Amino acid sequence: MKIGIIGAGQLGRMLALAGYPLALQFRFLDSSADSPGGQVGPIITGAFDDPTSLARLAESVDLVTYEFENVPVAALRRLAESRPCRPPLEALRVSQDRLYEKELFTELGIPTPPFRPVDSLLDLKEAVAALGLPCVLKTRRLGYDGKGQCYLRRASEVESAWAALGGVPLILEGFVAFDREVSIVGARSTRGEVCTYPVVDNTHREGILRVTRAPHRSAALQRSAERYLQRLLEHFDYAGVLTIEFFVRRGRLIANEMAPRVHNSGHWTIEGAATSQFENHLRAILGLPLGSTRAVGHSAMVNFIGTMPPRERLLALPGVHLHDYGKAPRPGRKIGHGTVVAGSATERERLLRRVLALLPRESGKV
Ligand code: AMP
Repeated sequence: MKIGIIGAGQLGRMLALAGYPLALQFRFLDSSADSPGGQVGPIITGAFDDPTSLARLAESVDLVTYEFENVPVAALRRLAESRPCRPPLEALRVSQDRLYEKELFTELGIPTPPFRPVDSLLDLKEAVAALGLPCVLKTRRLGYDGKGQCYLRRASEVESAWAALGGVPLILEGFVAFDREVSIVGARSTRGEVCTYPVVDNTHREGILRVTRAPHRSAALQRSAERYLQRLLEHFDYAGVLTIEFFVRRGRLIANEMAPRVHNSGHWTIEGAATSQFENHLRAILGLPLGSTRAVGHSAMVNFIGTMPPRERLLALPGVHLHDYGKAPRPGRKIGHGTVVAGSATERERLLRRVLALLPRESGKV
């Protein structure tokens, strides 16, 4: 069985690595020939919306999936006429636009921060008056890792925020003074089987995920997160892995966004769960039975952003697993991650501190 993956980043690479034991083969489509996926499978080099490249991918595989959200849905709809494409493109379409996403959450009874669409300076002024300050102005599309965002703390900042982001469709959100950020990763197979991983605790800095701790262990949050995820999975008649990121405020979940794909906050599952999110994504899109999502201990995943820690010193730590994506280092770029798995939360924290101590001072602060 050959699987085509749109995008050959680290997520694609980890999908392929999870699929080889199942005798699956992989082929990628990416605009760059030296993306991480190229280390584990051939890359068809071309733009994500180039019909010729998409057709070449489709004709060389049995099934297509994606590891990257900013793929033009119209181009994939054409591809889906010749090959099954999973997860469903409707989930991709909704996830590409923060307004559609929050409207769907609201329709399904999943709490979100208060929000308003903004298409003009007048809209922005009215939205700020309605939601109050502080608030966050975001581009509706193509925002990730905190890019395309502007915090508004004072009324005098309205014009400068508009100058910074205006001209494209925007959304204004109420600022959530959250206690923590968590996420849930789960999967639904083409046969309707559903599995969910434990809720995990995420620490971001400058909008980028730095550390995930798993499991979070709050039975109440776990129940709510599973219920919300299940609603989305059923709504889309979903197949594959789906992630929801939440703020937690006073013990309640407030959904920030969803990702119709394997997710950075699920990397810990490679060593920290009975079955990884990558394997379960493949099982789900192929209609195979899903694997156990049980956590095998207490894990922490640390993203290596801009620089890798010294390899020898990292690997000398017990219970640490290194994933080096083979990417050229660049400030702000995710180039690898490390996962520690320990027998207790205390031991995990001790090991995590030792990993963080190997990182440059700025990126080690979490
Ligand atoms: P996003 O690109 O929407 O995932 O946002 C990146 C990060 O910015 C989040 O993980 C939060 O730390 C922060 N953030 C985004 N939206 C809000 C909000 N409405 N209130 C408070 N913090 C936010």
